[in-house]
Amino acid sequence: MAMSAKTGKTERVIAISVTDWFRYGCPHCGHLEAQRTLSVSIASRLVCANPDCGRTYCTINDGNNISMINFGTKEEPYYPELLEHPLAGDASDRSSRDEEIALRHYVNCL
Ligand SMILES: [Zn+2]
Repeated sequence: MAMSAKTGKTERVIAISVTDWFRYGCPHCGHLEAQRTLSVSIASRLVCANPDCGRTYCTINDGNNISMINFGTKEEPYYPELLEHPLAGDASDRSSRDEEIALRHYVNCL
């Protein structure tokens, strides 16, 4: 669970693959830059750097299906499972995006 900066409502964190992240960015708004706030094994917790979004999401290394990071509480743990990127369908114009630039953004989050 994470607090949405926009709605103030509690919502489930979305987990996407690192490859989808390179291609499509934030699963909520498509923004490419994010701050990595936690990294555990194959999973990272990112906070979108778009001030109009600012939502928390999770990336999972390719080949894995579930986050090792608990986004719930101690009493009610929540390990988000990998989802297809929500913006992948309508972001075909982004497929030519330079993945090296995306990678650099990602590395800068460390
Ligand atoms: Zn965003």
